[in-house]
Amino acid sequence: MKNLPAGLEPNERRQQIFEAVGALCARFDDAYWRERERTHSFPTEFHQAFADGGWLGITMPRELGGSGLGVSDAALMMQIVGNSAGAISACSSIHINLFGPHAIVKHGSTEQKLKFIPPLIDGKHKVAFGVTEPDAGLDTSSISTTGRRVGDRYVISGQKMWTTTAQEANKILLLVRTTPKDQCVKPIDGLTLFYCDLDRRRIEVKAIDKMGRNAVDSNMVFIDNLEVDLESRIGNEGDGFRLLLDSLNPERILIASETIGVGKRAVDLAAKYASEREVFGRKIGANQSIQHPLAESWMALEAADLMVWHAARSYDDGRNCGAEANAAKYLAAEAAFEACDRALRTHGGVGYAKEYNIERYLREVMLMRIAPISREMILCYVAEKVLGLPRSY
Ligand SMILES: Cc1cc2nc3c(=O)[nH]c(=O)nc-3n(C[C@H](O)[C@H](O)[C@H](O)COP(=O)(O)OP(=O)(O)OC[C@H]3O[C@@H](n4cnc5c(N)ncnc54)[C@H](O)[C@@H]3O)c2cc1C
Repeated sequence: MKNLPAGLEPNERRQQIFEAVGALCARFDDAYWRERERTHSFPTEFHQAFADGGWLGITMPRELGGSGLGVSDAALMMQIVGNSAGAISACSSIHINLFGPHAIVKHGSTEQKLKFIPPLIDGKHKVAFGVTEPDAGLDTSSISTTGRRVGDRYVISGQKMWTTTAQEANKILLLVRTTPKDQCVKPIDGLTLFYCDLDRRRIEVKAIDKMGRNAVDSNMVFIDNLEVDLESRIGNEGDGFRLLLDSLNPERILIASETIGVGKRAVDLAAKYASEREVFGRKIGANQSIQHPLAESWMALEAADLMVWHAARSYDDGRNCGAEANAAKYLAAEAAFEACDRALRTHGGVGYAKEYNIERYLREVMLMRIAPISREMILCYVAEKVLGLPRSY
């Protein structure tokens, strides 16, 4: 990225973020990330460099050691990271720090905030996010991991799926059913949020062998009679899902911004290659069949980017931004997927070679069409909430 995104109001602080985060990312080149991907190893040095620079606390309150900045600034930081050689792997290694502890910041007690947040900012603690389960899928109200109250403790048992960074983390944010669904007024009642030690004596973590983003692990997690104290419970019993909702919109905005960063990188690399590679005695970039798809992708990415900054501004101004945050995530994932696919084809055969990195970016952005919410569910949401059509899920 050569400049601040066009849709983001420039100011001195953002220019500083742009330069400092860009310089930090530049220390970790494609060779570094290819090796992390090849060996499935967490980018510890990268994560620590962000912790040392204070960047992991960009959205955390100042009184807890953070920078107290808004989602617009955090989304800028994450677009720069996504645009770097680390692409989505780099983003995913730090992303959860920016939105994951949001429920604690907003709904935790003063003691919980003081105890839990500073170690996340300085990188001493790493957290995994355990919501998805194998038998519930996107229907979160149907999770079956249960928490049983026994005196002043809860005993938690069940299974989570896809839990990212559970190999590395020492903490886990767990959504657990504490009241059976059939005894609740609403399906989303009776779910409780816990922030507790990822105690490996009671929690077994098995890595999922997956398509891409292999520098950052995702796992099956088996929880067997994990005992947690009351201090581990965030907010009231039964309110867990509602507490999580607060962090969903900022998460979607950040993911959209990260994904656009990758798409922009792919288009830039493709344009550079197209202006150097000669076939049939001329540069391949002189062919419209090469130019037009890249030009179209540039437009699609810029348009999605405008939605990101619109959603981020709305969130920071305290306005409802559910539709805009979801739309930004949808448009970004579609535009970046197309951009990486086209960039790969622009490179011809070498696009398929790992050395050129584009195949890694393509595998990574495909994830953004699925998680943390699928493109189909975003369409369902917009149809219902914006267009007033019947709820279809
Ligand atoms: C690499 C990776 C990392 C992840 N990290 C985490 C993590 O750290 N923590 C965590 O909790 N989760 C994580 N997830 C889980 C992720 O959020 C889910 O995979 C995602 O929400 C989709 O859920 P599912 O896989 O159960 O799909 P399903 O719910 O089984 O859905 C399958 C398909 O059916 C479609 N579908 C389902 N119902 C409807 C409907 N009513 N209308 C239209 N379409 C429908 C969906 O859109 C989707 O295309 C991760 C996933 C991946 C792949």
